[in-house]
Amino acid sequence: AKALLWLRNDLRLADNPALAAALDEGEVVPLYVLDPVAKLGGASLWWLHHSLASLRDDIAGRGGHLVVRRGDATKIVPALARKIGAVSVHAGQAHEPWLRESDRAAAEALARLDIPFHRQRSALLLSPEHIASRSGDPYRVYTPFSRAAFDAVHPRSPIAPPDRLAGGGRVESERLEDWGLLPTQPDWADGLRGAWTPGEAGAWARLGDFLEDDLAAYARERDRPDRSGTSRLSPHLHWGEISIDAVWREASAAKPDGSGKQTYLKELLWREFAGYLLWHNPKLAVEPLRAEYASFPWRRAPAELRAWQHGRTGIPIVDAGMRQLWQTGWMHNRMRMVTASFLVKHLLIPWQEGAAWFWDCLVDADAANNAASWQWVAGCGTDAAPYFRVFNPVLQGWKFDPDGAYVREFMPELAQLPDKFIQNPWEAPEDVLREAGVTLGKTYPRPIVDLKSGRNRALAAFKEIGGKG
Ligand code: FAD
Repeated sequence: AKALLWLRNDLRLADNPALAAALDEGEVVPLYVLDPVAKLGGASLWWLHHSLASLRDDIAGRGGHLVVRRGDATKIVPALARKIGAVSVHAGQAHEPWLRESDRAAAEALARLDIPFHRQRSALLLSPEHIASRSGDPYRVYTPFSRAAFDAVHPRSPIAPPDRLAGGGRVESERLEDWGLLPTQPDWADGLRGAWTPGEAGAWARLGDFLEDDLAAYARERDRPDRSGTSRLSPHLHWGEISIDAVWREASAAKPDGSGKQTYLKELLWREFAGYLLWHNPKLAVEPLRAEYASFPWRRAPAELRAWQHGRTGIPIVDAGMRQLWQTGWMHNRMRMVTASFLVKHLLIPWQEGAAWFWDCLVDADAANNAASWQWVAGCGTDAAPYFRVFNPVLQGWKFDPDGAYVREFMPELAQLPDKFIQNPWEAPEDVLREAGVTLGKTYPRPIVDLKSGRNRALAAFKEIGGKG
């Protein structure tokens, strides 16, 4: 018998419960459908290309053939299932609204063909519908959620990748290379190629390095964008090149026990919480969870938005973050908070604009994590940093990039400034600027907003929707 494996955000062979279930039925035909409903950003498409190429090789090495198609998955999946005479279709459970909608429509079409459609928990540690607060309502706040989740998580035992995966050979496939997912002119992916190895092997290598080198000190180092103390597993986890069960299992078992490990597991539960929030609030990416924010007096300021996007705000730590994003497709979590706060507070630009730019530029762009985090920073999430707590980016720079190493890495035009003025060049005396080769307004912009008046304007806007600071 043949079973169709519909791969989505689970581009892996190890610890893949949908693959295991399909193998139980017989010969497996693995399929990936690039469906335009996902509206993937540029960096995601780059990643996807390489991840699929890697999976294709891994499957070919086992005698099999990855089938790739482009178009409406709700039509392609049932049609292919019927054509190959599949006895069943298997996939991982998804929490993205468009995938849930695809699943619903595909399930209907498959039911008409009398082909069962099975889904396994895969992207999250806990199925979102199975975890509720004592009142029976979904959790809205992280801390009680994480406590309940910690007790409820029982990661799956390892599932080894199959030795042979021989299906799909006679099934017609498009060619990944014909899809044009990689940038050509301009080729902006140079920094991405240097920073990442998409695919399952790359994911496991990354996890191994992190557990060995960085887990113990994670609680201390994770806030330092000038160091590499975090796992950088986010794109691998997003695409499911490594399963969250495996990451949880391996991190739990790692030595030494201590605050590093505990803090890391709690971060994984932030991911879990975001997926849970998206499941229970499918409009998380577009609508503020707190209703009063619907009337927030946001500004339309296209020139300032562009300055933020391109790292030309005149605030070095903000610009360094935005350039790290552009160059590498990733930004350190502390910097995501600083740059996002600057956009929604100092510039009063809607968080959805910032989320859209991140969506396009991040290799780990994730509907749940991105939307939940933006709402958190903007103060409109259910469990948000209070809006009136406005980050001062210069203080953030002094605290988390004390020698300016991070700014220097991404802002070569400021590299010669002394530590004392690297975060605030507009306060430097003329001769210091001259010696460092910096001419404000020419080689580097003056701040596009005065930090103090920007802060006051944000607080005034917050009062307009009835907020109390
Ligand atoms: P580590 O510190 O090693 O954490 C391990 C894993 O835990 C991460 O890979 C990630 O899967 C998860 N995680 C950690 N922090 C968070 C968090 N705050 N929320 C949810 N999951 C978390 N993360 C994304 O994966 N995709 C996004 O699109 C995304 N957008 C964000 C937007 C903003 C404005 C902010 C403030 C944060 C965003 N994050 C997003 C969360 C976080 O910044 C990244 O997950 C993290 O920086 C990834 O680096 P890492 O793998 O080294 O993290």
